[in-house]
Parts: sequence; structure tokens; C-alpha cells
Amino acid sequence: MSKKQFKAESKKLLDLMINSIYTHKEIFMRELISNASDAIDKLYYHSLTDGNTGLSRESFAILIEVDQDARTLKITDNGIGMSKEELEKNLGTIARSGSLDFKAEMEEQEGVDIIGQFGVGFYSAFMVSEKVSVTSKAFGSQEAWKWESSGADGYTIKEAERKSNGTEIVLTLKEDSEDEQYSSYLDSYRIKSLVSKYSDYIRYPIQMMGEKDEVKELETLNSMVPLWKKSKSELKDEDYNNFYKEKFYDFTDPQKVIHSDVEGVVSYTSLLFIPSQAPYNYYTRDYEKGLQLYSSGVLIMDKCSDLLPDYFSFVKGLVDSQDLSLNISREMLQHDRQLKAIAKRVGKKIKSELLDMLNTDRDKYVQFFKNFGLQLKYGVYDGFGANKETLKDLVMFYSSSEDALCTLSEYVSRMKHEQKNIYYACGESVEKIDKLPQTELLKDKGYEILYLTDDVDEFALQMLHDFDEKEFKSVSAEDLGIEEGKEDKEKAEKQTEESKDMLEAMKEALQDKVSEVRLSQRLKSHPVCLTSKGELSIEMEKVLNSMPTDQKVQADRVLEINAKHPVVDILKKVYEDDQDALGTYTKLLYDQALLIEGLPIEDPVEFSNSICKLMIK
Ligand code: ADP
Ligand code: MG
Repeated sequence: MSKKQFKAESKKLLDLMINSIYTHKEIFMRELISNASDAIDKLYYHSLTDGNTGLSRESFAILIEVDQDARTLKITDNGIGMSKEELEKNLGTIARSGSLDFKAEMEEQEGVDIIGQFGVGFYSAFMVSEKVSVTSKAFGSQEAWKWESSGADGYTIKEAERKSNGTEIVLTLKEDSEDEQYSSYLDSYRIKSLVSKYSDYIRYPIQMMGEKDEVKELETLNSMVPLWKKSKSELKDEDYNNFYKEKFYDFTDPQKVIHSDVEGVVSYTSLLFIPSQAPYNYYTRDYEKGLQLYSSGVLIMDKCSDLLPDYFSFVKGLVDSQDLSLNISREMLQHDRQLKAIAKRVGKKIKSELLDMLNTDRDKYVQFFKNFGLQLKYGVYDGFGANKETLKDLVMFYSSSEDALCTLSEYVSRMKHEQKNIYYACGESVEKIDKLPQTELLKDKGYEILYLTDDVDEFALQMLHDFDEKEFKSVSAEDLGIEEGKEDKEKAEKQTEESKDMLEAMKEALQDKVSEVRLSQRLKSHPVCLTSKGELSIEMEKVLNSMPTDQKVQADRVLEINAKHPVVDILKKVYEDDQDALGTYTKLLYDQALLIEGLPIEDPVEFSNSICKLMIK
């Protein structure tokens, strides 16, 4: 009998499968079982619409058998079956040339899990088999046919024997190699675990002959009903918690479970979890976000990253939709659009659940925020603030007056009536920030200050720019936006004017380390502080310069001297008497300001010597 050749495209895909270096060859099992399930679906549908078939739902099953000696794995279904023409058409040709090119291209790119991500269909059997035989009898037909192929050199079709409708696929497994133990697919334990991993929720029983108390009996390997398809009233916390821990490898119960059925242009069920602890690698590059994606109970993608925005990357869970096809074949773009629609609604749902938690169980929310708040703050900053509107109600910062985390709207609700801005101060820790001289005046006025301790914080606030029309302002900002008493202001201006030459000389002594030395009204008890002009703050300078790039940035520094501090009189005096001493004093003040800011001083030895000189004077 002459061999028939595969159509060009089919051959290409086949080659791809046979020579696949893909490591998850096990997914062939999922593919064959889902085909069997599809075939039963078709017949079941037929029986529903025809009514005369005499078939009941209970009679359908998928059977797995192994023959150790022959190295064969057999998967049988009693579905719709295939005629000779259908065998030829369905298994000899692939009517999806467009997606094939796409697959081949992707396959070449290292690390792209295209096979694992989408159904690749029947040909995946060739990843593990040296020969594949398909014997099938179409429903209502008298004849059965056998299709057989050992891969690239073509296939044969001949008449065969088969009692009832359905399809039987026999895989003769490849010889074991160093890289792959193909014989493991004959192991019943492995088979069970593959079925439960990929096909647990197939709606027909997947059965295998097993032994119980030395009696052979058919064992059903799948539960058939996905947890997320069960009604919520039926499910207990424990069910969700166990499912979560088993499926997403966590030791602790999730902090929150979100189970929803969504009807719409794209209908789906989603089951989402917020972990109660950040995974150990959460804030590293190793962490991979994504939700499992199911198409009618069949897993088609393990970590579908498109379903989750980066700022919610901590969410675990799954989405199951009957509106998604298992194959990319049906127009990749359309597929994408559906995914996008789902992703959008999933994102909205997560946000509304978080807001709800914030409003109804604030302690729980604070706990959540301690785990994942950093990610939300990155989210505010990310993409030039593209998602800041979504996230601004969810972020929290440490409040000076509450001694606890608070939201921006909570801050605003507590603002003094004359207060125009939302103030913040940055530093290494709450304790250190609390001591910053720059905060004195604001605290004196009873203004609340947000203490920012994470690197991203100030960047995030700058991206937000304002909240509820209140601008964010650093305690180090040039203009704090405070209405000072007219008298104070005039006095300060006069004083600055008087000291103009001295301040010039001080600036001279510091050369280009600062762009200005000025007398300041913002300080109360401290003699000095360092502030900055323009967009780039000193704290941002620190953050940016700690990153591994060659380009270092420098904030436009201003040395501020407390106008009311006695040190100003001393400065004035040495300015009259001793220009050299003014230089030394200025440098000392500058170094002190650096230390207060948590910045290194350029020459600690000189600093130390200068102090000693003063002591022995
Ligand atoms: P897909 O399932 O996406 O259509 P596959 O490559 O998995 O692609 O299968 C190709 C075709 O072969 C199916 O569409 C179906 O018509 C046919 N087929 C495969 N397995 C079976 C089966 N067990 N019973 C009946 N038809 C089958
Ligand atoms: Mg298929």
C-alpha cells in the first residue's frame, strides 16, 4: 500500500513536533484527551438535537490503557468518530497555515512556551511516539478505518475492525533517551498525575484499569467538576483554601478569595486569590505573574500574564471561559481581544474587592498593603503614571499624626482648613524622618506629614502630582506654600537683604556643592538643613544614584541656615573679622546638613579636625 504524503503545512508542524526540544512533552496527554472530549461533546450535542440516538450522558467515557510489553498507550473514546474522509482531512491536513508560521517562528525564539501556552493538537502525539495509529468509526456508519503514521514519511489508511462508534488512538512510545523517559507515560501513577494536572475538569469520566484489593476495576481519574464551577453556597472556606494551597504551592491560606461568574460579551468564571504573605521571590525578576487560563475546564495556559496588570501581579488564580478556543488557530487576534476584555474586567474586580476590604476591614487591608503595597506604588509610577487613577485610592503612606499607614483621602479629610498642600518627607526610616529639621515648622502648625521610606515613594507622589486637587509638597521644597505672618516675612526679607554679601561668601566657600546659601524661616530649633531646587530632590538623587548605571545625577542643593538661630550672629561676626573662619564654619554647617540628610560627607577627616580645632580654641 502506498504511503500518502502530509500536506506541506502539516509536515512542517509535524517536524516541529517530532524534533521538538520542548520540555513539556507531557501535554500530548491533554491534547488527546481534549480531542476525545470534543468528539464526545459533538455526539452528545447531536443526541440532544436529534433525540433519536438513544444515548445517555452517563454512557460516555474516555479510557486509558497501557501495554508495558508493547510500549503502547491507548486512549479510547466513544464519541462521534471519524469516517475515512474525515481521518484523511482532519489528521492529514492542517487548515491553519497562518498560525503554523506563527508557531514555527515562536518555537525558534528561545524560552517562548508556545506549545505549553496553546493547544497544538493531535500532532503533539508525535513528540512522544514513534508510531501513532488511529482507528475510528463514525457514528451511524458501518465501517471502521485505521490511520497510521510514523511521522514525516507519510501515513496510511486502511479498513479496520471496530465494534462501536468512537476513536481509539494507540501511541507506540519512543525509546527512552537521556533527556526523556518516554516509558514514564506507561506508569499509572504518572498518567494519573497528568490527568489531574491537565484534565481534571473534563466533563466525562477519564478511566483506567486499576487494582483495588487485588480486584481489577475501572478507576475514574478526574473529578469532572471544577471547584470554580461549583456553586458558591456549596463551597466552604476550607475548600477554597485547600485548593489554593495545593494548586499554587503556598503553605498558608490566602488572605482573600474572589470567586465570580461573569456574563457578557465574553463570559467567564474567575477564581482569584490574594496570598497572605508575599512569595519569597515576589520582588525579584524570578517572580512570574499570571493566571491559569482554562477553556471550558481544560487548562490551556498555566501563567497567562496578559490577564493581570503588573500592579496586581501578586494575585493568583484562574479564569475559565467557554468563549476561548483551545487553539490559537481561530485567529490569534480575536483570541487576544477576548483575553483583553477578560483582563480588563479581572483588573476592575480586583480593585473593587481591595477597596471593599479597605472600607470594611481596614486592619486586613493594612496587612495586605504591608505585603504588596510596594507593588501598587510601583504601579502608580510605572508607565509614566498610566495607571495612577486606578491606584491612587489604594496606596497608603505612613502618617506623622496617626503613627500608622493612611490613605491619601484619609489625609485630605484631616487637613487643616487653611492647609493647601499634602506634605511629605523622605528618609531611611520613620524615626529618622521624624527628626528632620525641615519638618519642624509644619509640625508646629499641626500639619500632618507623610513619611516616605520606600525608594519608589517620592517618584510615585511626583507622578500623582496631586490628590483631590491638593498638590504634594516635600518638606524640603523651596516654597512650602504657607502663608506666613506679614511681619515675619518682611523681617526675613530684610534679614536676607542685610546678609546678602555674607551668604554670597558662604556660597563661594562651598563652590559648586550648592547652588545657593540662604536664610530660612522653615527651621525652628535646628541651625541648618539641606533642601533642593527643582524637580529632583535629594532623596531622589540618592535613589537614582544607587542604581547600577554610570550616569550619576545631582540635585540642585540649597543650604538653608535658620534665620532665628544664634549661629547666624556668629557667622555675621566672623564674616566681619575673619574670612577664613567663615569658610571653615560654612563647610562645617554644610557637612552637618549632609549628615542629617543621611548623605556621606566628602572629607570626614577634615570635618573631624575642624571640630577639634574649635574645641581647643
Ligand atoms: P483541534 O482539536 O483544534 O481541531 P487537533 O489537531 O487536536 O485540532 O485535531 C484535529 C481534528 O481531528 C479535530 O478537529 C477533530 O475533527 C479530529 N479528531 C482528533 N481527535 C479526534 C477524536 N478522538 N475523535 C474524533 N475526531 C477527532
Ligand atoms: Mg484538539
